[in-house]
Amino acid sequence: MNDPLKQFSFLDDDMIEKFDKFTEILIEENAKINLTGIKDAEGIRLKHFVDSLWAVDLIEKNAEIIDVGSGAGFPSLALAIAMPNTHILSVESTGKKVKFQQRIIDALSLSNATVINKRAEDIANSAQYRESFDIAVGRAVANLSVLAELLLPFVHVGGKMLAWKSIKAEDEISDAKKAIKILGGKIRIVKEYTLTGEEELIIIVIEKIKNTPAKYPREFKSIKSQPLC
Ligand code: SAM
Repeated sequence: MNDPLKQFSFLDDDMIEKFDKFTEILIEENAKINLTGIKDAEGIRLKHFVDSLWAVDLIEKNAEIIDVGSGAGFPSLALAIAMPNTHILSVESTGKKVKFQQRIIDALSLSNATVINKRAEDIANSAQYRESFDIAVGRAVANLSVLAELLLPFVHVGGKMLAWKSIKAEDEISDAKKAIKILGGKIRIVKEYTLTGEEELIIIVIEKIKNTPAKYPREFKSIKSQPLC
């Protein structure tokens, strides 16, 4: 198999070794508990690692990053391996996934990553986290207006959020414009890429241009039942 990670010249041998170990442990744990639907090494490397790493050139070298709904560590731990000068807070509401991420952090000695077992909306108002990150990221967590309500409260003015989507999400993007404006954001660029040469994927970059009103994020049931769009 041609390793798709080799396309990224910023990955050194030590980082590739860490991705090898991550792959090995994920396959082993995924056979016991359901962590991700992608079970094979090739799929994990392409659809989790490579997909996460397409964001690297959108992220400043020393950024403070929060990943909301990070699952088995995507993009959080993939970015932590590839960008050792950043610091990443990985927020995940499912305990078994947090435990798995902690195992990876320990096994790979990722001193720049921290994982916590929380729901984003429960910590977004704490002084420690509110508007205190350079970048908030979210992949496969919710539609764009819901994701913006979960992510933008964590980002300081001048920072940004990154959302991984399919290029087919055009309607979702235009539906989310009002919500993004209310929450203090503005869509700046959409980075297009492809993993297989077929499906077109995008990373949407939303700049934080104003403070998020204090009442956001709401409780999750209100976020879902009364979308801002
Ligand atoms: N981002 C990962 C990825 O791309 O592989 C995981 C995607 S998974 C489909 C969505 C994850 O978000 C789940 O693990 C779920 O527990 C978590 N999640 C959903 N809503 C959340 C919230 N409000 N706060 C924290 N985690 C949340």
